[in-house]
Amino acid sequence: MKLSILITREQINARIDQLATQIAEDYRDRRPLILGTLKGSFIFTSDLVRKLDMPVEIDFVRLSSYGSGAETSGKIEVVQDVRTIIEDRHVLVIEDIVDTGLTARFLLDHLSSRQPSSLSLCTLLDKPSRRTVEVPIAYVGFTVPNKFVVGYGIDFDEKFRNLPDVCALED
Ligand code: 5GP
Repeated sequence: MKLSILITREQINARIDQLATQIAEDYRDRRPLILGTLKGSFIFTSDLVRKLDMPVEIDFVRLSSYGSGAETSGKIEVVQDVRTIIEDRHVLVIEDIVDTGLTARFLLDHLSSRQPSSLSLCTLLDKPSRRTVEVPIAYVGFTVPNKFVVGYGIDFDEKFRNLPDVCALED
């Protein structure tokens, strides 16, 4: 297995500055609930919220993901649900990757049934070439090609989450 850097830590840092500026402007005076998705977006979420110069609330939700390999099972489950009451709240979901879109679609449907005032999605990485269901994405960090990526919170078999850069995994 070979790792090659796809997005450097400097590029990530600079892009998060821009995203945070935009988000802070869009959500000014609305005290959004920032909802990170575990485990893949834990680093992105923590870097992003530290750059949001505004009052926010933070919670996490955990969905079942790929399992142990690189192929999606297609079956998605809530492993740890959001505890915060989201009715009448402005909810911003933070994802690591939107690939086929199935996970994000499932989560948005799951949350919207609880009547938040608004519900938007921010993803670090977008792989539009793989999309099978339509998902509205309000904030995209980077659009990436159809490669299997790891690092910056994103794993392969629970490995590589701690890499500071987003890397492509080639075999
Ligand atoms: P989707 O449901 O959009 O197909 O997939 C979303 C989830 O699949 C992501 O949150 C992530 O956990 C996983 N995933 C999609 N593409 C990749 C990838 O390139 N690398 C890794 N490690 N996980 C991925």
